[in-house]
Amino acid sequence: MNTLNADLHCHSVISDGTLTPEELALRAKAHGVTLWALTDHDEISGQARAATAAFTCGLDYLTGVEISVSFLDKTVHIVGLGFDADNTALQLGLSQTRGGRSLRAQEMADGLAKIGIKDAFQGALRFAGNPNLISRTHFARFMVETGVCKDTYEVFRKYLTDGKPGYVEHRWASLKNAVSWITQAGGVAVIAHPARYGFSANEEFALLSEFKGHGGRGIEVVTGSHSSAETKTYTHTALEFDLAASRGSDFHSPDESHTELGALPPLAPQLVPVWELMRSRIRRGGDGSTANTANPPR
Ligand code: AMP
Ligand code: MN
Ligand code: MN
Ligand code: MN
Repeated sequence: MNTLNADLHCHSVISDGTLTPEELALRAKAHGVTLWALTDHDEISGQARAATAAFTCGLDYLTGVEISVSFLDKTVHIVGLGFDADNTALQLGLSQTRGGRSLRAQEMADGLAKIGIKDAFQGALRFAGNPNLISRTHFARFMVETGVCKDTYEVFRKYLTDGKPGYVEHRWASLKNAVSWITQAGGVAVIAHPARYGFSANEEFALLSEFKGHGGRGIEVVTGSHSSAETKTYTHTALEFDLAASRGSDFHSPDESHTELGALPPLAPQLVPVWELMRSRIRRGGDGSTANTANPPR
């Protein structure tokens, strides 16, 4: 079913999105999504809310997360889908991955203070729905609010990317650990937005080979951050490396995101959709009537 309107990548206020899990579920439904996953960065505390909201509005649901990984001196994102959110090793691993964010944010604020941008830590924290998950996105929102830049993209370009004053090197989870946490919790690991890393062909080969070696099984082919040429490239990559294909908008905010929930091209017919690997892990939505909320999924 490659034509299913699945959106298996987006963010709520529990990480760096601006909508609640409930608002996202309604928005996904309104935009024609039928299978949904909330994939907050390094955090699964929104999963029960998302599953309940999905059930209430009649959306099928897969659990989701997007884990930050350090690989070859770059940050790579690994999406996990269809895992058991009660798995202790996964929860512990994510808690360790989140651990360094606060200190990193203080160092980012120190870097920005040196160029005259004051109180950025407190400023960014005001935008963080979850203080444990303070991220560059929250700094970017603060710097748009205070008029430093016109939009968050400009903030990233001028201040928050490698070599810029607010950028701080950070060590995230290892690829092996991230893939293991997901798979041992019964889920499927997926390489997020592969065109965004700027790897050479050899580096990308290393990523794909090691990912598969650790048990990774999927790759995002259709994502909000891929051009149509990049989608074609990664359609070939998925086939060549025998990886299942995922589809997700990476929606963060109605004001900032270029790609709406569910507003994506379909997966090419020759691809194996990632949801075919975990049919039994899909929680079926209710019929959309409020009468059906009496027994929502846990
Ligand atoms: P962090 O996990 O704190 O490093 O923040 C990463 C988040 O920042 C990503 O998940 C995106 O939401 C956002 N982001 C990263 N790079 C950019 C960019 N160049 N332009 C806009 N947003 C970005
Ligand atoms: Mn993000
Ligand atoms: Mn990402
Ligand atoms: Mn994302």
